[in-house]
Amino acid sequence: MEPTLLIIDDSPTSRSEIRQILRQGGICREFHEAADGISGLKMALAQSVDLILCDLEMPGMDGFKFLAMKNSREELRDVPVIILTSHEKQETKIRGLEQGASDYLTKPFDSGELIARVRVQLKIKNLQDELRKSNELLRQLAVTDPLTQLANRRSLMETLGREFERAKRLQSSLAVIMVDIDHFKRVNDTFGHQDGDRVLISVGQLLARQLRPYDMAARYGGEEFALILPDANGRSAGQVAERLRSLISELTFGGTLSRLKVTASFGIAALPSSRIHSLDDLIREADEALYRAKREGRNRVVLGGE
Ligand code: GH3
Ligand code: MG
Ligand code: MG
Ligand code: MG
Repeated sequence: MEPTLLIIDDSPTSRSEIRQILRQGGICREFHEAADGISGLKMALAQSVDLILCDLEMPGMDGFKFLAMKNSREELRDVPVIILTSHEKQETKIRGLEQGASDYLTKPFDSGELIARVRVQLKIKNLQDELRKSNELLRQLAVTDPLTQLANRRSLMETLGREFERAKRLQSSLAVIMVDIDHFKRVNDTFGHQDGDRVLISVGQLLARQLRPYDMAARYGGEEFALILPDANGRSAGQVAERLRSLISELTFGGTLSRLKVTASFGIAALPSSRIHSLDDLIREADEALYRAKREGRNRVVLGGE
């Protein structure tokens, strides 16, 4: 894909010269152009730009002011700027570089140098973009359960820790629901591990779809899920869990699993509670409630402490 370049220069001759050289150099065919810093800044903010060539001397907002404005905008931080200066004054170049320009070019342009410097900046920009993408992917992988694509346990614990502190401080509500599929071993034993995985994916998707945007569904362990419901008390979490329980029992699975029915058991712990002083207490109470739901016959919801 062609890179997007923005040329900011008050001289139309200078802009056309740059266009011609870069077209001939095969860098790109289309350019965005502006005649002063302010309109250049607006353009840079309006579309994603890979490189900016910016004249230093312009009426209105000059190149230095442009650099200062650009630096203050987070979304433009990684866009390199090559400054264009018409005189050989060493200080001007140094000042430009100190203000965040990545490189400079002296007018009149040497076409070979212009092309080479633009190429270098585009290459660096490209590498930075790739790095950012792979960092984002790594971050995503680190918090995601690969099978269900839900949040993983680590990510759940992080969020829960934060929500717990917040709820304690504000004395607001917070509910945790532990969900464990009933007799899941039988599913694996009857249909095999791969079909078992399909069931886990379906149940996970159902949970994620049913929750509100600020709730969180996570895979807590093998066939166990955990839900965080900020601002839900025990009673409203109980209603949510009851709805989920019913929906899971109605799930149908295609293919080899067309005869399969699954159910799940639910354990809930919620703040405010005089029994819960720590995150461990909260999880323990939800776990104990889940254990009771299992003992009392499965396919049911138990609210901790009741
Ligand atoms: P209960 O109703 O008491 O919860 O019975 P259960 O059979 O669901 O519970 P148990 O803990 O005995 O078994 C859990 C099973 O979940 C055993 C394990 O093989 C299976 N399991 C754990 N992780 C996965 C997974 O990623 N994929 C599949 N297919 N099965 C898994
Ligand atoms: Mg000028
Ligand atoms: Mg189970
Ligand atoms: Mg289990």
